[in-house]
Amino acid sequence: MPELFTQLFIAVIAISLAIRVWLGLRHIRHIQHNRQQVPQAFAETISLEAHQRAADYTSAKVRLRLGETVVESAILLALTLGGVLQMLDQVWQQWLPEHEIIRGALVICSAMLISSAATLPFDYVQTFNIDEKFGFNNMSRSLFFTDLLKHTGIGLVLGGPILFVALWLMQSAGDWWWLYLWLVWSAFNLFMLAVYPIWIAPLLNKFTPMQDLSLKTRIEALMQKCGFTSQGLFVMDGSKRSGHGNAYFTGFGKNKRVVFFDTLLEKLNADEIEAVLAHELGHFKHKHVIKRIVMMFGLSLLGLALLGYLMKQDWFYQGLGVVQASNHMALLLFLLVSPVFMFILRPLMAAYSRVNEFEADQYASQQSRPQYLIDALVKLYRDNASTLTPDPLHSAFYDSHPPASLRIAKLQTYA
Ligand SMILES: [Zn+2]
Repeated sequence: MPELFTQLFIAVIAISLAIRVWLGLRHIRHIQHNRQQVPQAFAETISLEAHQRAADYTSAKVRLRLGETVVESAILLALTLGGVLQMLDQVWQQWLPEHEIIRGALVICSAMLISSAATLPFDYVQTFNIDEKFGFNNMSRSLFFTDLLKHTGIGLVLGGPILFVALWLMQSAGDWWWLYLWLVWSAFNLFMLAVYPIWIAPLLNKFTPMQDLSLKTRIEALMQKCGFTSQGLFVMDGSKRSGHGNAYFTGFGKNKRVVFFDTLLEKLNADEIEAVLAHELGHFKHKHVIKRIVMMFGLSLLGLALLGYLMKQDWFYQGLGVVQASNHMALLLFLLVSPVFMFILRPLMAAYSRVNEFEADQYASQQSRPQYLIDALVKLYRDNASTLTPDPLHSAFYDSHPPASLRIAKLQTYA
């Protein structure tokens, strides 16, 4: 049985890696093939130069992330079948033979540290080579590393207690531990959704109430028309890190906030900003956020129930290169390995998300005007150097947003 599971694991890693590499190469080929000509629908709004810049920027990013995918797979194999986890477990066992929960948490943290250290160089290259070259990077090296420290600190402060609770429940809560952990996990997530914008996000960015009064009045009128109440409109200093623009809703219940990146406000006029916000309100109206949360809770319940079963199977440990069964190893193996198996869900989630995007676009067309959203999209695609000619298969597999040409074609039918 362990051998069989090992073979299955290797096969799934190999297949998903092959699919990713194949899709990535297709995507680059498709983009380069269409590099010489701006697609008809954008011929008047996007210059050939901007189109080629987008082609080169996208290709460079895809190439880098292909390298990252290969490294990630290699690290996962080294950790599991390569025996690194087994070794980590033994090292901590020698240092801390008692205190099973603390030792378990340390084993998990060390493994997570190794796997995130391995992919860190890719983020560095993306920021300081690729984004820098295309003029998107506004980060200094010291900000990059300060961010890294802050993210690690926030991760430890928030994730640490949850990890202890998980290991403690696994140890002492009996056969139904996974159900209790699911309740704790769900409550923790709801709590985070509520407090993230107020407690956590300000540690990384500055949020200032929107100053532009005429724009503010307009946006508030739109929100009122759509029946949306929020705790205010904020401008975030996104330009501190990158030139990419965005807008989003954050928070939960009464703590909802609307956040605009300063870079977005700079690029779009009031009509376009209103259309972008109307699109975001569309997500709210169609309850996309709630549906997503419910789906995630459902998935985590299934996952935890599965972990409850797997932790009692010797083949689960041995098949993944771990000799001795333990709660922390079960949890760690599950955290590392389940994303590999979840890979097959990726195109389904992406397709579902694209349906949501179309719904939000339609709503925006009713509340604002289709042409305003089209203008905003064209500007955002151009200024973010997003490709207008993605490979259709790559896009179907990965993209949470439909390709620009399809979105705009659909928006034109509402006009
Ligand atoms: Zn959207």
